[in-house]
Amino acid sequence: MAHARSRKSARPSARRPSARVPKYVYGFANGKADGSSALRSLLGGKGCELAEMTNLGVPVPPGFTITTEAWSAYNASGKKHPPGLWNQVTAGLGRLEAAAGARLGDPARPLLVSVRSGARASMPGMMDTVLNLGLNDQTVEALAKRTRNDRFAWDCYRRFITLFGDVVLSIERRAFDTRLDAAKTRAGVKTDADLPADALRALVTEFKGVVQSQTGRTFPQDPLEQLRLAINAVFDSWWAKKAVDYRRIHRLPDDWGTAVTVMAMVFGNVGPTSGTGVCFSRDPATGERRFFGEFLVNAQGEDVVAGIRTPEPIEALKTRMPAVHKKLTAIKDRLEAHYRDMQDIEFTVQEGRLYILQTRSGKRTGAAAVRIAVEMFAKEKRIDRDTALLRVEPASLHQLLVKTVDQKAKYTAIATGLPATPAAAVGKVVFDPEKAVEMALREEKVILVRPETSPEDVAGMHAAQGVLTSRGGLTSHAAVVARGWGKCCVVGAGDVVVEEENHLFRAGRAVVREGQVVTLNGATGEVIVGAQPLVDPTFSDEFRTLLGWAQDRATTRVRANADTPADASKAREFGAEGIGLVRTEHMFFGEERIPIVRDMIMAGDAQARRKAVDRLLPFQREDFIGIFRAMAPHPVTIRLLDPPLHEFLPKYKEVLEEYTRLDARGFNPERHAELGALKARLEALLEANPMLGHRGCRLGITFPEIYDMQVRAIMEAACQVAGEGLQVEPEIMIPLTGTVAEMKLTREMTDRVARQVIAETGKAVEYSVGTMIEVPRAALVADRIAEHAEFFSFGTNDLTQMTYGYSRDDIGKFLPFYLEKKLLPHDPFAVLDQRGVGELVRIGIDRGRHTVPGLKVGICGEHGGEPSSVEFCHRVGMTYVSCSPYMVPVAWLAAAQGEIKEPRKASGQLLGEAQPKASRPSSARRSRKASRANTKVKLR
Ligand code: PEP
Ligand code: MG
Repeated sequence: MAHARSRKSARPSARRPSARVPKYVYGFANGKADGSSALRSLLGGKGCELAEMTNLGVPVPPGFTITTEAWSAYNASGKKHPPGLWNQVTAGLGRLEAAAGARLGDPARPLLVSVRSGARASMPGMMDTVLNLGLNDQTVEALAKRTRNDRFAWDCYRRFITLFGDVVLSIERRAFDTRLDAAKTRAGVKTDADLPADALRALVTEFKGVVQSQTGRTFPQDPLEQLRLAINAVFDSWWAKKAVDYRRIHRLPDDWGTAVTVMAMVFGNVGPTSGTGVCFSRDPATGERRFFGEFLVNAQGEDVVAGIRTPEPIEALKTRMPAVHKKLTAIKDRLEAHYRDMQDIEFTVQEGRLYILQTRSGKRTGAAAVRIAVEMFAKEKRIDRDTALLRVEPASLHQLLVKTVDQKAKYTAIATGLPATPAAAVGKVVFDPEKAVEMALREEKVILVRPETSPEDVAGMHAAQGVLTSRGGLTSHAAVVARGWGKCCVVGAGDVVVEEENHLFRAGRAVVREGQVVTLNGATGEVIVGAQPLVDPTFSDEFRTLLGWAQDRATTRVRANADTPADASKAREFGAEGIGLVRTEHMFFGEERIPIVRDMIMAGDAQARRKAVDRLLPFQREDFIGIFRAMAPHPVTIRLLDPPLHEFLPKYKEVLEEYTRLDARGFNPERHAELGALKARLEALLEANPMLGHRGCRLGITFPEIYDMQVRAIMEAACQVAGEGLQVEPEIMIPLTGTVAEMKLTREMTDRVARQVIAETGKAVEYSVGTMIEVPRAALVADRIAEHAEFFSFGTNDLTQMTYGYSRDDIGKFLPFYLEKKLLPHDPFAVLDQRGVGELVRIGIDRGRHTVPGLKVGICGEHGGEPSSVEFCHRVGMTYVSCSPYMVPVAWLAAAQGEIKEPRKASGQLLGEAQPKASRPSSARRSRKASRANTKVKLR
């Protein structure tokens, strides 16, 4: 018998593995397993939990798991089995056969197995599985005989050849599917399930022919050869494109590898007392504590996935198979109690007997995660409070704070960009920001589509429901501004080509005209034609409870970046304990202000400039009064003007065009002269690299009138609000400092005006003056800068830009390629680069605190709301993080998790704000502190 011969030659005698060979195979059968949950890295999630469940006495079909260590050895040696692996596999198979009472390839009692992948982190559907392995021309007959079901046996065989052909032999699945469809047509039936046994038998012959013609070999009849090939194919599926992509998106390392579990097949499709299903121990959408799930009678897992038949809700099992329902309910309770977390369980019933095929911690929505964590601690006392805090992924809280696309929505996206905010929006496409404002005034919902945005577009952006740009990264203007508002924003959608003059944009073959409705899915970056259903944010009691726990537990505090009183109120609502960044340039773009700002820039001399600047003062003062009131008694960090001045003027190209037109026609001399002056000023201001040009404190130093006015506005506002009996804590922040001299000078300028205002108003408002650390040099000379600064705030947007040398507005051009080729692990403007930029942050903090122990240090770059970056900020001892109001809850949770994982030393020394107020540096006490610091510096 060919089969018996080959079996003999392929299966070596099952000897015990030699002492030098690692244990590659871990068995589980009859209530006993070699492994357990503790071996997740070695056995993968599926393998370790099958072992754990076996030990718990949960009914699991017998099997064994090949370790990830075996995968590593196989992978490292050019896809060769390491010595000893096959011996251990066949020994494991022997034990599995004994437990199952059947043998692989046995012509009378054939064992069939599944061969499944399983990484240590769940990668659902990304790797391969082979089912029904062990079938051949002989065993199929035995299966038919034993089950007294010809149809079932031949159906299993045709499924096996299809899956094996696809996964192991790399034959396109279509080759099988077209023949299956033809067979259905010939038999005059609609579904696979209606195909009679004879048709399936004929199909198997056809399928074997496909294998022969496509591989030049007969379909392998030796079950051991089938097993060896299937194990290798599952090993190799670690490198399937979808698996590689999934790991990149979820930031999972490539070197983990997959374990392979070989397990006795159980069948849910052998009749009306069989079935298969998936259940959750709680509702994964809401978190409600109720048994949730679906099942299909007389079906295999594949049928559930294929969606040919609609599964029944799990309650229906109660009437159909009451004993099974009772047992399954008890098992799900047991598993949840054991793992102390919501479980996602796969089960199969074979002729009334229940088997559990997998359990894992169930994926859940943000809302469900919060509810489950809070209830498991507060109501059920199953977990402690820290565990509850660790159970919720900070990023998942986004879903609770903004409108999102309904998860049930089905659609095809025409383009995908970078998801700048998780919010979704629906509206009519408009390309002109002014038109966006007009339409919004008419209560129309619009989506502003631009190649990129600039500060001039702010009104249009604000009026729009969402913003789509074809260029720019996650810290481009559009992204930063929209994030601050929690507004839907998709940036850098490279496939979108905006043809403003034709009032349309193209994306691949799609053409979207002005006025057409689109949906932006901010969570995924997808652009969809038409209106998709959106769902409202939920702000549940559980959410508030969890946020309270996080605030209680975090030692790194959380502030918000906010530019208006409305934003400040929103920030407080979301739990901010102050403002870490007011970008004052955003206040210059109001309708009434722009002409004054332009006068200021166009001014020929300091006197004219001061005149214009003075007209801005009342506006600024009003803004600050509003913000101080909204934030009292918390601190407010106000940054003096940062961007290059030309950003406030019309675009050079437009001015030049109009100027040239008038030039040629020779009329409207007044306008011509005005444009001429504008053009000349623009030319004078034009910079090759504005990001590295005349901005930040360089601007404030060369045009001191501007900073003087801003400091006066801040201090007058502070004095007024203090006069109203509210506590104010203004922190005046100098942007883009790179040298000690810059810091010293701007500090002196600030103190001079502030003292003047205090003297004028007679209100001794305490203020402090600090700096952004966003130029790498500032971090390196932080010890000296700290002699003049009372706090530091890391501007990691610019610090990232200048450390990498990547323009924050142009990174979109090469970032997708860099991510794909793994030249960068992620967008460094979204996730703080801890090794490089983070090292500068560390240096800056260490050196700053060397001069001023306990120096208050924060972060106000976009990273301040990104969970892994927040944890980093906690580890390096920051006093606070500051992020957009909508990220505040996320940051609190990340900060609390940071504290739980790495508790901060109780000294309080590193915390800045945590010290008693009397010991904190303040402007009033500054000179004493600075002289102490000076001594220290000299001593070094
Ligand atoms: C920064 O650079 O991190 C920062 C907060 O400033 P801006 O984004 O305004 O340049
Ligand atoms: Mg900056």
